[in-house]
Amino acid sequence: MLWSLIKILLFIGVAAALTYGAGMIMETPGEVSLAFAGQEITLSPLGFLVALLVLMLATWIVLRLVGFIMAILRFLTGDQTAISRYFDRNRERRGFEAVTQSMIALAAGEGRKAQAKAQTAEKLLNRPELTRLLNAQTAELNGNTDRALAYYKEMLTDDKTRFVGVQGLLRQKLKEGDTVTALKLAEKAFAIQPQHNPTLDTLFDLQARSADWSGARRTLTAKVRASSMPKDVGKRREAVLSLADARAALADQNEAKAREAAYAANRLSPTFVPAAALAARLHAEAGEARHAARIVKKAWTTQPHPDLAASFAAIAPDETPEARLKRFQPLLALQPDNPETRMVATELSLTAEDFPGARRALGDLAETAPTTRSLALMAAIERGEGAPDSVVRGWLAKALDAPRGEAWVCEKCNTAHGTWTPICETCESFDTLSWTLPPATEEAGSAAAMLPLIVGALQRPDPEPEPEQDTPAAEAETPRKRHPPTQSVDDAEVSDDGDTDDRVTPLHPDSAGTDTAEDTRDEEPKPVRTSEAL
Ligand SMILES: [Zn+2]
Repeated sequence: MLWSLIKILLFIGVAAALTYGAGMIMETPGEVSLAFAGQEITLSPLGFLVALLVLMLATWIVLRLVGFIMAILRFLTGDQTAISRYFDRNRERRGFEAVTQSMIALAAGEGRKAQAKAQTAEKLLNRPELTRLLNAQTAELNGNTDRALAYYKEMLTDDKTRFVGVQGLLRQKLKEGDTVTALKLAEKAFAIQPQHNPTLDTLFDLQARSADWSGARRTLTAKVRASSMPKDVGKRREAVLSLADARAALADQNEAKAREAAYAANRLSPTFVPAAALAARLHAEAGEARHAARIVKKAWTTQPHPDLAASFAAIAPDETPEARLKRFQPLLALQPDNPETRMVATELSLTAEDFPGARRALGDLAETAPTTRSLALMAAIERGEGAPDSVVRGWLAKALDAPRGEAWVCEKCNTAHGTWTPICETCESFDTLSWTLPPATEEAGSAAAMLPLIVGALQRPDPEPEPEQDTPAAEAETPRKRHPPTQSVDDAEVSDDGDTDDRVTPLHPDSAGTDTAEDTRDEEPKPVRTSEAL
């Protein structure tokens, strides 16, 4: 405010001074005479002043002209920007202004404004690396895929923007679900910038999904080398990839390669059950029984698993059930209280037709951790011991409704898989399966509802005498009709009393998650024996 006032006053002052000065000069008598090359020019004082001003103006124009000619000369000698620099200062300023506004609009999510400003900037500025990116991003924000793709493709032509262009195209292809093109683009991006972490992740996922195990392994190595992944995680992932490789080789009937890859997977992660199971099986097939047994025992110490039991059985496929029961003892002794150990021991005793031994091995597992498997084993024991049909049917009816027990469950989407796979079948995540109880989602009672006559008959009170545990095994001349649900043991049937089980009697397994499962079945009929046991 004050400054404006001062400016006005100054202007008036200057104008007044000029008028006064001009008046003074006009009134001043005399003249200016210039003698030049024999000629003499005489000017009035005012005329002289005007001439002076004209001279100054002419000098300025000449200087500008010289600058312009110089710019043209530089342009002609190859300096492309010289002439445009001469003309386009203003244009450039407006261009950068448009870029600024576009970026602000982009950040604020105002798609239309951002796009309009980006287009203006593209027209005003000769900075394709900047304006292409801006236009591609605004097009992406507006959901204009074709436009975005066109700009990203243009960006591939410039070294400076090639990587960003590939990234943009990759993003679009992933959005479209075109994983084949996406994989090629990710490989291209990896070639340009091998240390770029998001690219490595994307590339690894795409390779794993398309079962390109050797490619995935290269990516993994690069990732570990870029130290963007802890060494132990890298090791575990490499084990998973090696195992996947081994399986693929087995499918191709390339035994040698399968062996090598499976052994490598087991070496990298000795407690990784699927790798241990396969490595042990392949060692057993090659006649290296001790090696196979060592691998199974090592993995069993961490996690007893039916697949490991199957591999251990495969070491001597033709042995008698009693010999097998005996051979398994050192393995079973590693984790004697584990439910898996107890169920495997039960199975082994059943195949050897040692029913009291089977009952001792199973203990109270059918009550404390009722699963289809433990209940079916119980039914087989009852059957083998010659219990009445109603009792056997009671256990089987319970088995129908019981949870399936542990499975390979995806940590991300909770999908339960029958066999281990490197990639979840539902969410396609890599190495997310762990051996655990699936979340209880299945509605209890549905299976029982499908057998109303059997289950209904069981609901009527049955005044039967309880068959006791000490029924001699010899009485059970009928071998069990129902096999245990796992395939972990061969079904050789030789009658004998293996009395190897002197360790399992009352056990208190702490299997989590089974209590609730049991609650849901409380209203169901219980076989006579269980009422006593509970
Ligand atoms: Zn999943």
